[in-house]
Amino acid sequence: MDAEKLKKGLEGRGWSFKSFETGAQAADYLAGELAGATVGIGGCGTAEAIGLYDRLKAVCPDVAWHWKEQDMDAARARAMTTDAYVCSANAVAETGEIVNIDGMGNRLAGTLFGHRRVYIVAGRNKVCPDLDAAVYRARNVAAPLRARSMGKKTPCAVGELKCHDCRSPERVCCGMTILMHRMMGMEKCEFILIDEDLGM
Ligand code: SF4
Repeated sequence: MDAEKLKKGLEGRGWSFKSFETGAQAADYLAGELAGATVGIGGCGTAEAIGLYDRLKAVCPDVAWHWKEQDMDAARARAMTTDAYVCSANAVAETGEIVNIDGMGNRLAGTLFGHRRVYIVAGRNKVCPDLDAAVYRARNVAAPLRARSMGKKTPCAVGELKCHDCRSPERVCCGMTILMHRMMGMEKCEFILIDEDLGM
């Protein structure tokens, strides 16, 4: 991983960049950044791993995360109208493109429109040398691992760990975004790299 190249790649596309050695440091930073704001979180193993929800709950008036609420659909909808949105990436290219795949689309939507601030938090395992490699990782590593973790009966979950572009009713990847630049109209888009392996 070339963190300096990644920083340059993201900054050249309008993103700000921060890096931390540990997830705990990143969670501390985000709690300071987001204190007083309403925050939505997308489905995100990285946020879970770094204990972000509890840190934000202590300092934010509302934290909408469907992973923590009984009414998951209501939480997903509320997360679309918060001041800020936090999620991870399935992959990021050192050239600065951020790739995500989603089944329901809330995580993709949250990074595209409706929030003044977007923070993407990712471990070093998500960093790829270029866009082709990032798309490959999102499709053939992150999505199959996610399908397995959810106990799906998709070919990637029960067979070889790669994408088979299945037509399964349990398919977990229905849309993919490539963030090529900070979206117009957003105040701040920040990528936070953690020097640990986190998420899928
Ligand atoms: S399209 Fe199907 S096979 Fe490919 S990663 Fe998604 S769920 Fe797995």
